[in-house]
Amino acid sequence: MRFDLDVRSVVKKFGDFTAVKGVSFKVEQGKFFSILGPSGCGKTTLLRMIAGFLEPTSGEIYIRGNLVNGLPPNKRPVNLVFQNLALFPMMNVEENIAFGLRRRKVPNNEIKKKVKDILERVGLPGFEKKAISQLSGGQKQRIAIARCLVLEPSVLLLDEPLGALDLKLREQMKVELKKLQTEVGTTFVYITHDQSEALVMSDYVAVMNAGKFEQVDTPQNLYKYPQTAFVAQFVGDNNGWEAEVVSQDKGTALVQTSEGYQFHVKTLDHLNKKNCIFFVRPEAFIIKPDNKIDDLNRLKVRVKTILFDGANSRLLTVVENSEKEIIVALPQNKQFDYIKPGDVIELGWHPENCIAFERE
Ligand code: ATP
Repeated sequence: MRFDLDVRSVVKKFGDFTAVKGVSFKVEQGKFFSILGPSGCGKTTLLRMIAGFLEPTSGEIYIRGNLVNGLPPNKRPVNLVFQNLALFPMMNVEENIAFGLRRRKVPNNEIKKKVKDILERVGLPGFEKKAISQLSGGQKQRIAIARCLVLEPSVLLLDEPLGALDLKLREQMKVELKKLQTEVGTTFVYITHDQSEALVMSDYVAVMNAGKFEQVDTPQNLYKYPQTAFVAQFVGDNNGWEAEVVSQDKGTALVQTSEGYQFHVKTLDHLNKKNCIFFVRPEAFIIKPDNKIDDLNRLKVRVKTILFDGANSRLLTVVENSEKEIIVALPQNKQFDYIKPGDVIELGWHPENCIAFERE
């Protein structure tokens, strides 16, 4: 296995404030790796240290096995695609793409060939003479990436490059970008605060919170097996409910909510604190037309609204005699068509689909 990027115990302090608190990870060659986290968690700081715009306070960064600490950005085999794309509006597509090659004093005939090849690779053959203003948002995106890829970086860094696009185009570009990365085979390190972007495109995702990585995993594992409460809450929709531990036995616990409900939950480790938070995914709930639920965990809820998004329906429900809201995915099955707002239904779920973490 060859690693294009190897970040070891990197810390970044700004005065008294520590923005990145000892982050380590490796990215295998040719993979799409995302760093996902809320605004202010330190993603951009980390990316800028890899690119060479910031120096770590401590820790090492290796690219293709070479230590790059202390090297300026233009001496590192990486390129950064900025959120605003930073294309030169006065230059046409060819001039934009050729810019970095000219600075490297690549001969003109070679530049022409490289520009032609890269335009084909990003699916825009023959676009050399187009003005930037003639391009759609998605095309600009591809040109910005082509301009970096033409320099053949070991790692392409992308700083929320879909942030400036409207929702529909973002959806489309997610798929395009993943396709492009697979086709060109370059290692991508992509930062975003949008979990759906990270889940759709990435081979691996690092979930970052308050300067640290909480979990690095495949999108599937992050969703199915979150290792921390933060990951459970941040990745995908989840119903979180605070409770107190009543009793526990290897890998399971009985917990009680402030409303007085008791549930059987799964635990990863022994819960050392009395307070916990447990999570149930919307699709983990079982509902039956006759309301005869025989699962260990059962709960009566009142349907507030039915949320229909074309392919799926979800029920926004509220726990009887409380304010606690619960989102339930409705199985795609006509037998549930009778459910309407105001109905009281019973939900069931298996303890193994309900995971609890400690809470302060
Ligand atoms: P966003 O998605 O909003 O860009 P982010 O996860 O990329 O957020 P960073 O930009 O890396 O977050 O910032 C992390 C923290 O470090 C923030 O609290 C920010 O205020 C702080 N920070 C970033 N740059 C500096 C700086 N030059 N001096 C002082 N503090 C900084």
